[in-house]
This record gives sequence, structure tokens and C-alpha cells, in this order.
Amino acid sequence: MPTIAEARTTWTATVRFTPGSYLKTRRTAQLLSVHDVAARIATHPHLPEHDLVAWLERIEADVVPASIHTIDALRSVYRFDRSVLDSLAAIARGERDPIHTPRICRICACSWRCSCRRDGEECGWVAGQDLCTACEQRAVPSTGAAAE
Ligand SMILES: [Zn+2]
Ligand SMILES: [Zn+2]
Repeated sequence: MPTIAEARTTWTATVRFTPGSYLKTRRTAQLLSVHDVAARIATHPHLPEHDLVAWLERIEADVVPASIHTIDALRSVYRFDRSVLDSLAAIARGERDPIHTPRICRICACSWRCSCRRDGEECGWVAGQDLCTACEQRAVPSTGAAAE
């Protein structure tokens, strides 16, 4: 099976991510709370200092768009693909056809430029699904020893 990076750009949009839900899913996949993120970007210039948590929640709810400074600050805290975020923002603004939604894992929101690595192995796509192999076992409830 090719890794996500080898498969590069493919389109399979079963979950309609928005810029905010994409950022939120990447954050939670890396086991960070909004409080964790707020604490780590609190010293960043160009960001509103009052109530960072509420402000991050508004970005994740697509109430306000993330500025370039915000995106830079967030990228210093957790991994996400800026080109995927740009694509989703363009779709949200109606400037890009949703058919060209980048393929994004529905569980962890990884993508070909931002794939998962576990034990030195990169994830791949589960055939025909917006699901990566790193998340496959979590997505499908185990039925016991049958699959071993
Ligand atoms: Zn995944
Ligand atoms: Zn993955």
C-alpha cells in the first residue's frame, strides 16, 4: 500500500471539513486542549492577549478566520498542512469547487504533506475512504481475535 505521501493529491470528501473543524481535529489528534494551545502561543506577538481560549474557540467554530499571524503561531504548537487549510478556506469562501477538497483523514485530519508516523512507519489511505491506516483500528471496533 502506498503511503499517504506517495499517493499525494487524491479527492475523497466524505467529511466536509471547514477551516475551523480542520484546525480543531488536528489539535485534538495531537492531544492538545485549547488551553494548552493558548498557553503556548500566549507570548506570540500580533495575537490578541485577552481571553485567548475564547478566541481560539471562535476560530475553530469558523466565527472568525485565522489570520496569517495566527496560523504561524498555531503551527509552532501543532502540526497541520497549511495548503489544506488554504484550500478549505477557499472552498468556504466559495472560490474553489468543493469537489477539490483535499483528502483528509476523517479521524485525525492527516493529509499527504502531514501524514502520521508511528514507529517510523508512515500511514497510508484505507482504500476508497477518508481514513488513514493509523486510524483504521480505532475507526473499526475490534471483533476480537478474528483479525489477528
Ligand atoms: Zn488518520
Ligand atoms: Zn494518518
